[in-house]
Amino acid sequence: MRLWQYCGWALFGRSPATETLRSEPVKLIAFLLYSQCKTSSESLLLRTISSALFALVAILVPDFSLLSAQELAPAYAAEARELAVDPQIVKAFALAEELDQWSLERLIELTEIPAPPFLEEARGRRFAELLKQFGADSVWTDIEGNVIGLRRGRGRERTIGFGGHLDTVFPEGTDVTVRQVGDTLFAPGIGDDTRGLVVVLTALRAMEEAGVETEDDILFVGVVGEEGLGDLRGMKHLFRATNEAPDVWIDVDGGGLSRLVTMGLGSVRYRVAFNGPGGHSWGAFGLVNPAHAMSRAVRYFQDIADTLTRNGARTSYNVGRIGGGTSVNSIPAETWMEVDMRSENPESLDRIEQVFLDAMNRGLNEENRLRRSGPPLTLENRKVGDRPSGSLESSLPLIQRALATTAVFGVSAELARSSTDSNVPIAQGVPAVTIGRGGVGGEGHSPGEWWINQDGHLAIQRALLLVVAEAGLANPIS
Ligand SMILES: [Zn+2]
Repeated sequence: MRLWQYCGWALFGRSPATETLRSEPVKLIAFLLYSQCKTSSESLLLRTISSALFALVAILVPDFSLLSAQELAPAYAAEARELAVDPQIVKAFALAEELDQWSLERLIELTEIPAPPFLEEARGRRFAELLKQFGADSVWTDIEGNVIGLRRGRGRERTIGFGGHLDTVFPEGTDVTVRQVGDTLFAPGIGDDTRGLVVVLTALRAMEEAGVETEDDILFVGVVGEEGLGDLRGMKHLFRATNEAPDVWIDVDGGGLSRLVTMGLGSVRYRVAFNGPGGHSWGAFGLVNPAHAMSRAVRYFQDIADTLTRNGARTSYNVGRIGGGTSVNSIPAETWMEVDMRSENPESLDRIEQVFLDAMNRGLNEENRLRRSGPPLTLENRKVGDRPSGSLESSLPLIQRALATTAVFGVSAELARSSTDSNVPIAQGVPAVTIGRGGVGGEGHSPGEWWINQDGHLAIQRALLLVVAEAGLANPIS
């Protein structure tokens, strides 16, 4: 072929190979040069030139390894490509597409079952029925409320956890009726994470109907308590040391195909209350004042927190809500606040939390020293959130497989940090990744949340491929 024909194929071709080439310009140029070599000495010369070019770009562009997905080892890329053309997987892929309408119906059905924080049972019950009906060997609900469907493997050496979260951020009484305008579905929770549950469910059904058998056991899970004050309670239970936790965790939450969450953003949250007797601002002057104590405490906290967060691992702090008191001429009986601290690094999070607790005590003690009459002030620090952080090496087989199975769809993946159910296993060093639920969506955590089934089957196929790659495809029994 002539150069312009190769260019046309590489630039406009619609195969995974051409899409990979387009996402990596240096490889594209190298490929086009190779294509024009007629003798082996010409190829050798070009190979040398392009190696030098790769090296130069790697020096000039520090993030080159991310841009070119060099983190992906060739062995895993090959494994994923081979698996994707296995006849059983091809059949399961076709089913994932055929089940498009069924998936949409399940999405609407599950979205319309309210699942406020701590009230996930009704949605969980229906999810359990669907797991049972479409391929799980046994289904149960654990004492925390997680709904778990086991699909047995052939070898049963390991257990692969694969789930989305049942809960939404929306309180009881929120109208969760799905409204359809054109191809857009509107409803609170339609994307986050009801669609995640549907990805899990459809992957199960496609595997079952295509007769895909795996070596390892797979748990298909609807997890409780991911959002807000749920504080990852479902995952904390699943991965508690005393329980039989899965060996790896594949989580479906968040947007499109390219983002793979392999790093957890940790956070701690406190509700703080300073309490005193309260009284008249003139008549009882000299009593301890909770507002004065808390103001001092916040100031002492920020003095040190500011220096802690300027360098090193990214860390943040925020006094989000403050309240208390009854009137301008009353000494408040209570002053309270809610505080959020986050960090990429567990040690930094521990440090800022300790600084925070010390500052609260200092505010308390100093106000008590200024007391002229009445009982002393008391302090209550209630921890209302504790999400562990951590990160995983991209060389782990699970992460490699997540990169490789995403590349099969012509998408160059990026490794990201976020706060998801995967935080819990990641903090324990258990391999985990959060993959996207597919389609297009927006306005999450708001009543105007929407989702469009644009190529939604791709996310189901990718999830299925990753789960099977990790669990190991068992040979069909002949
Ligand atoms: Zn979510």
